[in-house]
Amino acid sequence: MNEKKIKELLVVNKLRKTKVRTEILSIFLNKNCALSYFDIKENLKRKFDKVTVYRTIHKFLEKNLIHEVPSSSSAQKYAFSETTDNIINNNHAHFICKECGNVFCLNDVSLNNFKLPIEHNIDVINLTANGVCVTCR
Ligand SMILES: [Zn+2]
Ligand SMILES: [Zn+2]
Repeated sequence: MNEKKIKELLVVNKLRKTKVRTEILSIFLNKNCALSYFDIKENLKRKFDKVTVYRTIHKFLEKNLIHEVPSSSSAQKYAFSETTDNIINNNHAHFICKECGNVFCLNDVSLNNFKLPIEHNIDVINLTANGVCVTCR
């Protein structure tokens, strides 16, 4: 399941196919919400050491395969990027559920149309909606 998509994503991003990369990508593709390191670790079928998992997360961030999302907990969460071309062009709002703490990408709520002051160098804009998700409602 998702095997073809995973292979494609790795090829496009010039990443060698390794067990840890395949597994982590597959976890992201199977979840529709953002994941922390601990969520990823919990869902891994094989045992990988912490360094390997963190290194893979950073590689995926570097390739824009995943992105960091705002979170209500102290653990940094990451979400799968629907488009990998440019993280700034793909800047979108996020939704945080106050019940389960899950973070969802609102890919249709684009943050690219704001008129921003040009005297500042803005790297990232965050817009977060809070409420109760469809599962907790
Ligand atoms: Zn929820
Ligand atoms: Zn997102």
